[in-house]
Formats: sequence, C-alpha cells, structure tokens
Amino acid sequence: MAISNSYKTICSYCGVGCGIVVHKDSKGGLKVEGDKEYSVNKGMLCSKGMNLNYVVQDTSARILHPEMRWSRGLPLQKTTWDVAMERAAAVFKSIIKKHGPDSVGFYVSGQCLTEEYYIANKLTKGFLGTNNIDTNSRLCMSSAVVGYKKSVGDDAVPISYEDIELADCFLIAGANPAWCHPILFRRLEKHKEENPNVKIVVVDPRKTQSCAIADLHLQIIPGTDVVLYNAIAKRLIEKKLIDKKFIKNHTDNFEELKEKACKTSMSEAAKICGVSVNDIKKASQYIGLSKAFISMWTMGLNQSVIGVDKNVSLINISLLTGQIGKPGAGPFSLTGQPNAMGGREVGGMANLLAAHKDLANPVHRKEVSNFWGSKEISENPGLTATEMFDGLNSGKLKAIWIVCTNPVVSLPDSLKVEEALKKANFVVVQDISHNSDTTKYADLLLPAAGWAEKEGTMTNSERRISYLNKVIDPPGEALPDLEILLKFAQKMGFNGFDYENASEVFDEYSLMTKGTAIDISGLSYQRLKGEGSFQWPVPNSTHNGTPRLFIDKKFFTQSGNAQFNVPVHTLNQSEKLSEEHPLILTTGRIRDQWHTRTKTGTVNRLNTHIPSPYLEMNNVDAYLRKIKDGDVAIIKNNRGEVRVKVKLSFDIRKGVVFMPMHWGRILGEDFGRANNLTSNLIDPVSKEPDYKYSAVEVSKYKKE
Ligand code: SF4
Repeated sequence: MAISNSYKTICSYCGVGCGIVVHKDSKGGLKVEGDKEYSVNKGMLCSKGMNLNYVVQDTSARILHPEMRWSRGLPLQKTTWDVAMERAAAVFKSIIKKHGPDSVGFYVSGQCLTEEYYIANKLTKGFLGTNNIDTNSRLCMSSAVVGYKKSVGDDAVPISYEDIELADCFLIAGANPAWCHPILFRRLEKHKEENPNVKIVVVDPRKTQSCAIADLHLQIIPGTDVVLYNAIAKRLIEKKLIDKKFIKNHTDNFEELKEKACKTSMSEAAKICGVSVNDIKKASQYIGLSKAFISMWTMGLNQSVIGVDKNVSLINISLLTGQIGKPGAGPFSLTGQPNAMGGREVGGMANLLAAHKDLANPVHRKEVSNFWGSKEISENPGLTATEMFDGLNSGKLKAIWIVCTNPVVSLPDSLKVEEALKKANFVVVQDISHNSDTTKYADLLLPAAGWAEKEGTMTNSERRISYLNKVIDPPGEALPDLEILLKFAQKMGFNGFDYENASEVFDEYSLMTKGTAIDISGLSYQRLKGEGSFQWPVPNSTHNGTPRLFIDKKFFTQSGNAQFNVPVHTLNQSEKLSEEHPLILTTGRIRDQWHTRTKTGTVNRLNTHIPSPYLEMNNVDAYLRKIKDGDVAIIKNNRGEVRVKVKLSFDIRKGVVFMPMHWGRILGEDFGRANNLTSNLIDPVSKEPDYKYSAVEVSKYKKE
C-alpha cells in the first residue's frame, strides 16, 4: 500500500518473510526500514534485509536486454523480446515434436512469486504436456514436505511465529537460525532472556552461533539424527512422559513405533550419535516436562539421503508428547527461501499439482486439467532438480528453461552440472543479473525484474501470505517473470494465458484452492493490500486467516489421526568414508550472504563480515595434517577439488569439516565452490540431495 512515497513489501531473502517499508525519494533513490506494524518482525531487520536497497539500485551487472546466440560458440547478442520469444517457442516446438514433451523442462526457484510459480506450472504440466518442472526448493525443503504429509496428511506447517513466545522448550535441529533466520532467532533470544526457565536444545555437529542461547548442545556425528530422535522417543515412553490420551484418541501406529523404532539401548544410541547418555536423558526430560514444545529444523535434517526418515522421527516426538494443535507447540520446519512455501502451494515441484493436489492421483490430475481447460496432465512423474541435470547429461532432456536460480553453483556435483548445460540442445536463463555463473551457458538470456520492481505475493514459513508492492520500474527492457512466461505461452499458441495483471492470476489460483486444506478463496489483492497479510486457510471473504492448525485434533489423513512413522533407515546411508577420504564435509550458509551471492556478493557492507570462502576444521584434524590456521588447503574427493583458507576451531567435531555454499568460481578457478565436492545422492522419496555428508580429504596446499 503506497503511503505518499513509501511502500510496504516483504524481504526477498529468507523464509522468515519480514515486512519492509521502502521509501522512494524524488530522484528514485530507495531506503528500507523494517515495518513496525508487521507482526513477523515488528520493525526489526537483519543485515541482509537492511541492505536490500543496494541490490536493487546496483544496476552494474543487470541484464538489460534479451540476448541470444544463434549457435554454440557464438557470442550472445542483443535482441528484441519478440525475436527472443519467437526463437524460444520455435525451439521448444521443434524439440517436443521430435522427442516428445518429456524432452523439455523448467527449473524454477523459491524466490519466484506465487503467481509466477503458478503460471510456470500451468504452462508446463497443463500445456507443454510434461511434468518436468522442479525448483531449487527441492534442495532445501522437499524432505520436510514428505515428512509433514506422512505425519499429518498434508504439507502443513502447524504453527505460527507467535507460538515462539508461548513455548517453554525448543529443540533446534540441523539449523542455525542465529545466522540463517536471524529475526526469528532474535525473537527466541528475547523470549529466553525474559523467561530463563525456557529450555533450548540444539542438535548440530557444529557449535554454531545458535548455541549461544542453548541449555544443551548435542553435538552429534553427522547422519545419526534418526538414532537420536528414536532414543528420545524411547526414553519418553519409558519415563511415561508421553500424552497417552492424545496418542489414543488422535494418532495411529503407536505400538508399531514402540516396537520397531525404540529398540536401540540408550548406551548404544549415545555411542552411535557420539554424545553422552546423560545428555540424551536431559534432552528427553526437558521435552517430556515441557508444557509447550516446539521443534525447529532446516537443512541439517532435510538435506540427506535419509531426510524423510529424519523428519518423521523428529515429528514423532511432538506426537508422542501431544505437542501439536495447541498454543506454543508443534513441529516447525523453517523455510530457507522467501517463497518456498508459496511454490509448494501452487504445485511447484515435479510430483505436485496446484492447491496441494498430487500428481500421482488421477482424480486430482483430472480436476486440475478441467480447471485449466488444458489437455490431460501426463501421469509420468517429472524429473526433479538433480534428475533434470542427469537428464541433460544422458540426452533424455534436450532443453531447459532456468528461472531465477544459479544451478552451476547451487546444485551438488557442480562439474557434472556444467557438463549437463554444455550438452543441452537449448538453455534459456531468465534472471536479473550476470552475477549468476549459469548465465554463460545460456543460448537465450532473458532480463527479469527484481525485488521491488514487480508486484505479487509470497508465503513465509508460518503460512503467511503477503502482498509485495512494485516500487520502481525495472531497468532497461527487463520484465517481471510473470510477463515473460505469459509471452512465451502466447507464442506457443496456448489459450488461457491472457491475464491482464498478476491479480487475475492470484484470483484464478485462489479459486482453485476452494474446498482444499489450503483454501484461500477468501483472499484477493484488495484484501491483502487493504487488510495486510493472512495465514492460510482463508476460506471466505470475512475469514481472518488461521494462525494455528489442528486445534480440533483433526488431521488431514484418511483416518483423521496423526501418524507415527517408523523410519525406514536409522543409520546414515550416505557415501562411505574411506582411508583416502576420511573426513565428512558438510556445507551451509553464513550470516551475510544469500545463496550464490548473485545479490549479496556485490554489497560491500555484506562482504565485510566474511569476505571469502573458507574451510572450518577441527584443530586436531588440522594438526594431524600439519595445517595451521590461515593456511590454504586443498579439499579433494573423486568429484573435484577446491582451495580455500582454513579456519581452525574446536567448535566443529573432529572428523567433520564445514564449507559455506555461497561461492562460485573466482578468477576463473574453482576456488571456493563447495559443490565441486558434494554428491548428487538423493533421498529416495523426497529426492532431496545430501549436502551434509560428502567424504573428502584435506591437505595443505603447496605452490608448485
Ligand atoms: Fe530478510 Fe530473513 Fe533477514 Fe527477515 S530475517 S530481514 S526475511 S533475510
């Protein structure tokens, strides 16, 4: 909503989704400040959010015009939108005619707005005739999606941020909110300061900044999470710290869980996890005696070949203690990207359809194709993120359209990703700037509008749908992603893509949700602009949204009960360590950088925090290899190598090393690209890659 020259919008970085007020001066200069009226952040912003204006105003690397190369080896040349779209449509038509619709695919992003995500899905699944559309959210959230579906019957985060101030016990698992979800962490920190009896347990192989407020840090061996949560479950049952009434009336499979998942003895579990028996007992006691318990997790659980098992084993603890569907309680997966949730809602993954319908369900496919007036939706499962690039490598996939993401740096096994893009017949890259390493593989490069240059909606980690204002025009000929996709659909000759504006797309999608678990048919741009944000479901125009799910203890499962799930695997199934590669590499984020630095990497203020990539290594591991603090080391395995400076620390477990995932190629070398080393092993159900467990060796770099 415009207030003279001030505009309300939402931060475009993490899934916390803070409210921002953008002030525009008469010369078009922008200033940002936290929105004091917004419930999420109440005026606070972290370092990334505070510097968002620099990202928009730095146009030095922006893609300003469509660029095209007529064949590989020739340089990209400036062209018009009309020629670019004609070419894209001609190539897609010809490839589909020759090789079938499953030979093309879209790879999109959790930073796309909901309307863009919805149209990309409608276009691909309904009209191109393939389910080959997936998203970089596959890399961070898909294990949580499956975990929720298995446990509560739908991809439904039960709680709200306001529950943080109502809880008295937290288990933060495989997450470092102090750096990666800073405003949520500040709320948690304040809550703990004001209520010293609140207990906080952190589970992480590294002693991160989030441990500063922890009562207990379980520094587990990477990959042993399921053993730990099963041991806690066993202890809760043995000590009768469970909610028998809730289990009896509102859950299924308790006996199976008890028999099959709770077999390992406490001492054996402690040995496997590399923690003490006492600490497991202490964590169980905190949870069992808590009146309101929240578990929070992100990539440490999700990014694993047993990511789904890790998720269900953690959610089991909330179910055992009846800590769901009441104030201050519930399992709470934190989303990494600003609109990872919105993407899931509109079916932005290869196995999903809009409005949380399932691609595998023929009735759902029919409902969606009828709604769109499209041809039948294919029953063939689409290729997921890593599978798409495998598909390009094998020749199964011929053309890929990449929207707002930088797979050359962010996907695992980067060298394989580069090979895949070289082998592709046709690569379209739609992005805001040349800072993405992926742009150089484009046959067609399309300039997209960035944050504050377009309108639309996003959903944050607590199911809160917010409207983002357009504040300024995009530079050059850049267009909103939505307009680009609509132009392409029209060039392809498809009906049903003649929207006047983003609001019409939102109206179509919200109508589609009517009667579903995520019903937002009561929402419109008018309400979002006038009344503010809403948490779904919002089933009618007088409904004020739903802060908390499952208050009535009715779950979205067939029986209406929540489900205990016995994890299929308790032990880690990642690649094995060996004499040659004896260390476990785990990757993650740092405080002031975002994804592959395409936006934050050019902001001086953000680069001062940690200016270059590094390897965090335990002092003992370094000593054994004659490596000192600040030395340059080579980190190597069968997939590749990188060279970075070493930071010695006792905060990381012996046998484990850590690298931030943000850096790509520097000065033409693979200097700090962590994903040269990560494997593209994936969870068999969620298809999420295993970024947290790659076997490597580290040695001191000696100049030839
Ligand atoms: Fe933006 Fe996340 Fe920081 Fe909030 S916490 S300002 S949403 S990056």
